Amino acid sequence: MIRIILTTTLALSTALTSFAQTTPKAPAGQLSGPFPKGVRAPEANFTGAVYVHTLVKNDATFNCASSNVTFTPGARSHWHKHAAGQILLVTEGVGYYQEKGQPIRLLRKGEVVQAQPGVEHWHGASPRQGMTHIALNVNTEQGIVDWGRAVTDQEYNSFK
Ligand code: MN
Repeated sequence: MIRIILTTTLALSTALTSFAQTTPKAPAGQLSGPFPKGVRAPEANFTGAVYVHTLVKNDATFNCASSNVTFTPGARSHWHKHAAGQILLVTEGVGYYQEKGQPIRLLRKGEVVQAQPGVEHWHGASPRQGMTHIALNVNTEQGIVDWGRAVTDQEYNSFK
């Protein structure tokens, strides 16, 4: 019995070591974190390559919609607002967040953004590094998102 356990443990250990050695690491800035990367976000509302994976579907019990969003370098949302606000939890990379009339805020892994209800804003990756965040849309019975125009290159490149 002991021999079987030892043999099994050794085999598992060898398998795990082999897996770690043969699994390529994703390039920096393009990680989706613990969640799947998901599918390409609609081009109508985003500039560049953005991927979305739904984590929580909106329903009448929770009134919350959540998704894992991955922005490749340079990619960003269009200007938009959330009637009931939105919380962003940055899980990977380096990104940007900007509210209308305010300077761009640099976002790093571990930061939290609270977009207040009705405040126009956009979020995305930095030019050289991608960014992944979890988006939490709360109190969705009041509305989820109202989309506006694209963020111009001049606006995007205004980070100081
Ligand atoms: Mn938003």
